[in-house]
Amino acid sequence: MPSPRRTFAIISHPDAGKTTLTEKLLYVGGAIHLAGEVKARGQNRRARSDWMKIEQQRGISVTSSVMTFEKDGVFFNLLDTPGHEDFSEDTYRTLTAVDSAVMVIDAARGIEAQTRKLFEVCRLRNVPIITFVNKVDREGRPVFELLDEIADVLALDVCPMSWPVGMGGTFEGVLDLKTNRISRPDGDSRNFQGRVEEAPELPVDVAEEIELAQAGYAAFDAEAYRAGDLTPVYFGSALKDFGPAELIAALADFAPPPRPQPAEPAPVQPDEKDVTGFVFKVQANMDPQHRDRIAFMRLCSGTFKRGMKLTPTGHGKPIAVHSPILFFAQDREIADEAFPGDIIGIPNHGTLRVGDTLSEKPGVRITGLPNFAPEILRRVALKDPTKTKQLRKALDDLSEEGVIQVFYPEIGSNWIIGVVGQLQLDVLLSRLEAEYKVGANLEASPYDTARWITAADPTALKDFMDLNRGALAKDRDGNPVFLAKSAWEVGYIADRYSKVTFAATRER
Ligand code: GDP
Repeated sequence: MPSPRRTFAIISHPDAGKTTLTEKLLYVGGAIHLAGEVKARGQNRRARSDWMKIEQQRGISVTSSVMTFEKDGVFFNLLDTPGHEDFSEDTYRTLTAVDSAVMVIDAARGIEAQTRKLFEVCRLRNVPIITFVNKVDREGRPVFELLDEIADVLALDVCPMSWPVGMGGTFEGVLDLKTNRISRPDGDSRNFQGRVEEAPELPVDVAEEIELAQAGYAAFDAEAYRAGDLTPVYFGSALKDFGPAELIAALADFAPPPRPQPAEPAPVQPDEKDVTGFVFKVQANMDPQHRDRIAFMRLCSGTFKRGMKLTPTGHGKPIAVHSPILFFAQDREIADEAFPGDIIGIPNHGTLRVGDTLSEKPGVRITGLPNFAPEILRRVALKDPTKTKQLRKALDDLSEEGVIQVFYPEIGSNWIIGVVGQLQLDVLLSRLEAEYKVGANLEASPYDTARWITAADPTALKDFMDLNRGALAKDRDGNPVFLAKSAWEVGYIADRYSKVTFAATRER
């Protein structure tokens, strides 16, 4: 029997404290020895690649990575999601590979835009959420206001698991409501949780609050949490070490083990013997010298062994996975064995794509990895027109990686790229230059959005396509796409061609 697995992500709005919390979780989990190493390592890695300069300049994190640590016999796989809202597509896909999530909220700000968006994605897949209200060492909003906001905005039952005794200047520690133990700030700087006191005497107003809260909010119910109906709420300060240890314990105690994955012809159960996994991310050119690509595969069933042959659905030929990589926080380690819930990095030369299922059993296809309709479309204009071939290669590569989507219009030779956020455009141009030596400009395109078109009746589809050839394109997999000048036009056309489906997402 493998050790239990907890595969999770942290979702938050930028600045809520995700990096700090990640660092502390890894520290408590024994994966790093000095706080600060996560960022330092990140910076080294960043320096290697030019395009990543954007990330430095803007102080955001563009790449996701995987961090594994073990604590008290439980293996934790933490999948990092890029924090910037422009990278939501990548983030969405990463969330398809987790079994649960920790939602970090700034105690002074409550639920912010990005938290809410990411939460909605979790809800789509019933991913259970543990909430961490961070920064209680600073002035924050009243506890009840925060709890009610989580309950109202996210339509979840909330169950406070701990309670901050004061915030900011009056901060005196965090009380564990189950054990009735308080962790007090300690030392000259009152920085770290020091003294733990049993059944402490509390300020009267705090004692009253807690009594009210325990009467007013739902009791903890592990099943409701796992069904995505209830969120346990922890208060703390990632910076000052209040909370990270409790979060790890909560993940170990309550968070779900690897779940069945939606798939065709039938869901894949974690206890199936055959190895099945899916690629949720591809990262190319991590090392510009080698042009390597790493496909990140989430293992859904079976015991993976090094050298094993897996068949990517749809491509036919089995590939032998000789040098899989497990991502530990400090090092990449070669994996000999991996279990459901684990993430394996598979080096390859472009054969593996986001959305691919890899299995010992032919014909299985994990479903539910969406492509999103782009919200910004641009025409790509080459500075040097002799570089068409290189451009095509670059666009194919980058769309495989999920950095952009590419559309090849039926008429005309100007390829159109689509993104969900502005920042992706900067990344595109800078990677074209740095990695493919292709100078290009992005020009306005007449289109505003795109829809994947299908129809049960092939003549209906053909009729539509014949009459709208000027607005048709193919995506990189050859699927027909309708390029629209506005969302209004999509509605208008969809009304006129009721037998054709215009989809804003496409499952791969
Ligand atoms: P991210 O953008 O969500 O990754 O946020 P960071 O972890 O980079 O934190 C943003 C800022 O908030 C940084 O300046 C952190 O030092 C600070 N911060 C994070 N956690 C805490 C906390 O618990 N208390 C206080 N006072 N500051 C914090």
